Parts: sequence; C-alpha cells; structure tokens
Amino acid sequence: MRVTFHGGARTVTGSKHLLEVADRRILLECGIFQGRRAEARKKNREFPFDPRTLDAVVLSHAHIDHAGALPALVRAGYDGPIHATAATADLCEVLLRDSAHIAERDAEYLNKRRAPGEEPIEPFYTLRDVEATLPLLVPQPYDDRFEVTPEVGSIFREAGHILGSAQVQLDIQEEGKEPFRLGFTGDLGRDHLPILRDPYPLDGLDALIMESTYGDRLHERGEDLKRRLEGVVRRTSERGGRVLIPAFAVGRTQRVVYLLHQLFNEGRLPEIPIYVDSPMADRATEVFRRHPECYDREASEWLEQEDILGFRRLKYVRSVEESKQLNELRVPCIIIAASGMAEAGRILHHLAHGIEDHRNTVLLVGFAAQHTLARRILDGEPLVRILGTEHRVRADVDFIGGLSTHADRDELLAYLKGMSSPPDTLYLVHGDEPQSLAFAATLRSEGFRRVHVPHEGQSHDLERH
Ligand SMILES: [Zn+2]
Repeated sequence: MRVTFHGGARTVTGSKHLLEVADRRILLECGIFQGRRAEARKKNREFPFDPRTLDAVVLSHAHIDHAGALPALVRAGYDGPIHATAATADLCEVLLRDSAHIAERDAEYLNKRRAPGEEPIEPFYTLRDVEATLPLLVPQPYDDRFEVTPEVGSIFREAGHILGSAQVQLDIQEEGKEPFRLGFTGDLGRDHLPILRDPYPLDGLDALIMESTYGDRLHERGEDLKRRLEGVVRRTSERGGRVLIPAFAVGRTQRVVYLLHQLFNEGRLPEIPIYVDSPMADRATEVFRRHPECYDREASEWLEQEDILGFRRLKYVRSVEESKQLNELRVPCIIIAASGMAEAGRILHHLAHGIEDHRNTVLLVGFAAQHTLARRILDGEPLVRILGTEHRVRADVDFIGGLSTHADRDELLAYLKGMSSPPDTLYLVHGDEPQSLAFAATLRSEGFRRVHVPHEGQSHDLERH
C-alpha cells in the first residue's frame, strides 16, 4: 500500500492524495490549483493519473482547493462514489456551481483576447459537468464507519474548520498484512470557533497526513473578537460612517454575522442596519441553516430560541438593484460582501464608493494574499486601483485577526500531543514550502522521528515501524 501526493504538496492548493491498496485506488481530495494563472490552468487540466481507474473519492470538506476539481475528474471519466459529510455535499453544490461560472467567464475572457488562428480555450469545466458530479456525492454521517473498498473502512471525524469539515480515519486491511490506520486531517480548525464544534483528536494512527498552512505562525491570542468588533462598529457609526467588510461568502460571512448577532442581543451594537450583500453568501447561509447537526453546544442551544444567522437588523441583499441602492444610504451601516481578498465581487463597488470617505472603516477579517487589493489596503498603500480607477484611501483600515479557521503552529502541535499515542509517521501537506519545512523542523525537535514533506508526485510506501 502506498500514497502519492499529487497536489497540496509544498503548496496550499490542488490537494490530491492517491492511496493504493491491493489493486484499488482511492483519491483523497480533488482540489484545484490556484496562483499563477497559466501554470495553474495547465495543471488543472491534466490529471497525473487516469481518473477512470479510481475506485472511490473521499472528500474532507467543500473548499475548492480540496473539492474544486471534482467536475473535471468526472468530465475525464470518473463515475464512482464521492464520500463526504452531508453538509459538505450541500456546500459543494453552492461552491462548484460558482466555480463553474468563474471557469466559463475566464475562458470567455481569454477567447476574446485570442490571436487570430489560435484554438479557442474551453472552460476547465462547465455547469453541465457540475450537474453530473453532484449525484455522485454519497453523504456519510460523522463518527460512523463506512466502506470505501473491501480493504478500506473509513470514519469521518469533526475537523472544526468549516461547516461539514471532516478529518478522515482510514482503517486498511490488506490480505496477509497487519492492519494499518492512516489519518488525514483535511484542513484542521481550532477550538472555540463560533458555530463549529472543536476538532476531534484522532488516535491510534500508524501514519498521519497533516495540513501545515500555518506551520510557522501564531494567530493573535487572548483578544476578545467581539470587543474588537464592537469597538470598530461604534467608532465608525459615531463618525456617521459605514463599516465595509470583505468576507468569503462561505464560512467567514456566517461567523461575522453570528458575532454581530450576539452583540446585538447583548445590546452592544449601535442602532444601525447590517447588510450581507452576496447572493452566494445567502445560499451558503441556507446550507448552514439546513445542518444544525454540525453546530457546537452554544449554537445549538441558541438555535432553540431563534434563527442564529438572521435577526431583525440584518438584511440579505440579493439583486444587483438592491445592492446599488445601498450606495444611496445616508446613515451609518455595516456591509459584508465577497470576495474576502477584495479581488472580485460586490465588495469592489462598495470600496470604490466608500474608501475615500474618512468616516468609513474598511474592516479586514481574513488572510490576504500578496498582490490582492485587501493586502494593499492592509499594507497602508495611500492609492489603490479599484475597478480600473485610482482611489485615495481616506477610510480607516482595521484588521481583526483570530478569525482564522486553520490551526496555527502551537495548535497543530497541541493536537498531536493530545493523542495518547502519536502517529509513527507524518506527512506534512497543504502548506507553502517554508511553512511545511519549518513545521517539520519543529516536529523533529519535539521528538517526532519520521516526518516527511513530500514533493509533488512523490510516493511513499505505507508501513508499520
Ligand atoms: Zn479549507
């Protein structure tokens, strides 16, 4: 039995880990590569294995760096089961449809700029491929064993990262060999995140494939998120301004809404309206509402009294017309809109309209990659280009860390140390190279002897030591 790392190896995108047991092949994750466009496009189009030879796919969660290439896999001939939790299956519907739209728009854009005689570019996949993929999803409950192949039984355990996120335990029994337990963290969340349950400690593992996104970083600690949020909203509304929050439509938006709702109930929010201006966030919120089985105790108890993701002061904005009307408002308000890194989506219109007004605040609540608009604003650039026009940044800029849904270095370490018998072998994936290598060094200094940071395409035999 062996595992080959075909993506998410020394990078954070394109997760694909191929497990071969006896003569069967199981794919863990099927994520898309992102980053440098031409390179990512090429890698997304070519699978380094024949999708028709796969027996099953097991999916940890719905983020597109883990699930986004599934429709391409199906387009290339895969027609077997895709095991996922029920909430992940529902979120895949929202995220994959959106991803197909982006792929179609992307191809259209490139084809307009194509030189005469050049072959037209086909989208990576289309809505039709998404529709062919969704019926293959097989929802599995948490904490219940299901068969992946006759040799491999699996259990999904809470990962605490996004709604429906799971870690995967794989119990492998190959004929004539000792049983082998392989764990896969997927993306590992953190304790005490709003709404979500805390990550479950896997145990009794022979080997663990572990994410390392923040292998060398620590999140802000001990800060009271709600107090920070309250402060920003208060200061801005006293100036008569608006709070503009770029946020991912799935996960981040719901967490911010949840915190605002708590502040509202505690009488700590000034009397101003709140708008979630994103049709996708609206759909994702519906999925959140459909899956209370994923909530932690606080959210479950609260849910018995009221809808936790909607309240009197909050309005979900659907149409473009309504979205434009928000610009006419003369009163202070809070506007939450995608995308999180302010690279696309309706937030751009709100920023273009509001960033030059000193009364407003741009509130960043998530990771901002280099060369993105959110990053430039965060770095304090005085002039930024939005939708083709230069704008002077006069609005206040604030950042609330601590809303990250990935465990940081110390949390990853605490997770491993919380196991009664830590895994013998570790494969670090899903981290940029410096992060993964730094975390490997930390683990070795903590006494872990077999720590690998696989390169893309590299195979390892799974064996007990
Ligand atoms: Zn994720």
